[in-house]
Amino acid sequence: MKHLQLTENLYHYLLDHSVKQHPVLQKIQQQNSSDELTSIMQIAPEQGQFMAWLVKLMAAKNILEVGTSTGYSSLAMALVLPDDGKLITCDINKQATDKAQQYWQDAGVDNKIQLKLAPALQSLNSLIEQNKVNHFDLAFIDADKVNYLAYYEACLKLIRPGGIILIDNVLWGGAVVDKKDNSKDTTAIRELNKKLSNDKRVDISMLPLSDGLTLARKRQAKISGNGNG
Ligand code: CA
Repeated sequence: MKHLQLTENLYHYLLDHSVKQHPVLQKIQQQNSSDELTSIMQIAPEQGQFMAWLVKLMAAKNILEVGTSTGYSSLAMALVLPDDGKLITCDINKQATDKAQQYWQDAGVDNKIQLKLAPALQSLNSLIEQNKVNHFDLAFIDADKVNYLAYYEACLKLIRPGGIILIDNVLWGGAVVDKKDNSKDTTAIRELNKKLSNDKRVDISMLPLSDGLTLARKRQAKISGNGNG
């Protein structure tokens, strides 16, 4: 068998045998589950743990996030950042990010997280203007889907060669293969997936984790020259 359908039973087995959540992450998940929208927007615990694992693997110090919501993914990553590490996260939703800030404080990592409460493209462009190009080790894109391509292009500038961009919801509940679904969100995700599958600037891996997660690693820039060196 080349791929596996996760039954409810098997999924709980996976959680029971691998996932350990920090108490504040547990609290966010519990509180999000009472609200349909925040519970859909929150990443799954096994994904949060995977992303924290990547942060450790890369010894990442500088992380960029597009889409904060109630702060689950930023907290999962900030918890494993070193003391001098920093995570910048972008969102426009004051209500959700007020909650996020409280959770970060509860977990004692608010000093490592900087929230930019403004349209994310604006925040990303100002980081580019502030010369943060090639600065970040890792970026996580999980926000409004119609801007995914623009977020990806901005993040690709902002991460260093060898750095990784994670893009969430790339399988979009299976809608990417539903020919009848031509909604703006689905179309935007299809366009990004198509772009990434042919993008020579990155090496990608698309994982069927949760709602689909693409990992795009930025290649070293080719040194131009005549080859005499
Ligand atoms: Ca998501």
